[in-house]
Amino acid sequence: MTTPLAEKIKAIISVNGPISVTDYFALCLADPEHGYYRTRDPFGRGGDFVTAPEVSQLFGEMIGVFLVEAWQKHLRPTRNLRIAEIGPGRGTMMADILRTIRQLAPELHDAATVHLVETSPALRRIQQTTLASHSEKLAWHESFDTIPPGFLLFVANEFFDAVPIRQFVKTANGFRERLVGADEKENLAFAAGVTGVDPALLPAGHQAAAPGTIAEVAPARMAIMQLLSDRLFDGGGTALIIDYGHLATGLGDTLQAVFKHTFDPPLAHPGEADLTSHVDFQSLAEIARSRSIAVNGLMTQGEFLLKLGLLERAGALGRGKSPKQQAEIQAAVERLAGTAPNQMGELFKVMSVSSPDVQLAPFID
Ligand code: SAH
Repeated sequence: MTTPLAEKIKAIISVNGPISVTDYFALCLADPEHGYYRTRDPFGRGGDFVTAPEVSQLFGEMIGVFLVEAWQKHLRPTRNLRIAEIGPGRGTMMADILRTIRQLAPELHDAATVHLVETSPALRRIQQTTLASHSEKLAWHESFDTIPPGFLLFVANEFFDAVPIRQFVKTANGFRERLVGADEKENLAFAAGVTGVDPALLPAGHQAAAPGTIAEVAPARMAIMQLLSDRLFDGGGTALIIDYGHLATGLGDTLQAVFKHTFDPPLAHPGEADLTSHVDFQSLAEIARSRSIAVNGLMTQGEFLLKLGLLERAGALGRGKSPKQQAEIQAAVERLAGTAPNQMGELFKVMSVSSPDVQLAPFID
């Protein structure tokens, strides 16, 4: 089976030669005609995957609790107060966050303007509907740098994993850029190019890596982290980044496609499968520190939610509900915080950074 985007990419390759993994990744997600996020609503049961805010309102509520605490620790600023999210999907998490903040800290809710950074027109329309009751507070942005200056409370869930990475493959001549070309049967296939990489960008241990080993470098992610860090440095604030990823930098291929709730080879359904790669949180933390931003901590999603009081909140939500509804809440808690491979508790990681440095639960005991 082929896809319209696969045909378009093959046409590009036949004229210009193989393209880099970064360009392939970017086309799959953001090609104006056939890009995955440009054309559809991928979330939920009818889509290809379910994200944490779509599992249960509990997720966004816990993030709201965290942001209220951060705002309090930053001594409750109310001037030029921004709440921002990048890659808001359906807008579900922001709706849950705003409802929680309104209950816990009306002063924060009333003073803040809300900024959504979203490139997909299809998803912007859905966000407008989800967040219609907050419309007077909302502004949409094509990119992070147009958020007005001020104190920032920032969140991103499953955003960084959708930012294209570069891959390098170990060859007899060292690491070379990994490319997407076509094989003799005209199917898309990986190949090694000629472009090398500054060894300083490669993870430790790369010299001893076996031929065929993949190393990933994420300049676009790093650029966003730099921008975010500089914003926090200038105006103060706290950012919470949640994603599929690893706590420590390592070697290996993490490019991953999901098509109709099943893992799929990354070259099989360009434009029709979701394409992501694991986020290297250590490198994001190093960027923050290099820009004088404090890293509050880094932990698994399960630990983060449980320490913030997920079980207590789930109990309150279930009170007075039917046994069926209670079972659904219980299942959502398991999905969000459980440690089995099909649950999100261990796979997803949470990192918080702040400026100035503040001590934030659950990263302190
Ligand atoms: N946070 C949501 C959606 C995650 S999917 C959730 O948890 O459900 C990734 C999101 O990032 C989508 O909304 C996608 O359109 C958006 N996105 C991808 N690349 C982007 C970019 N460069 N700038 C802003 N948003 C982007």
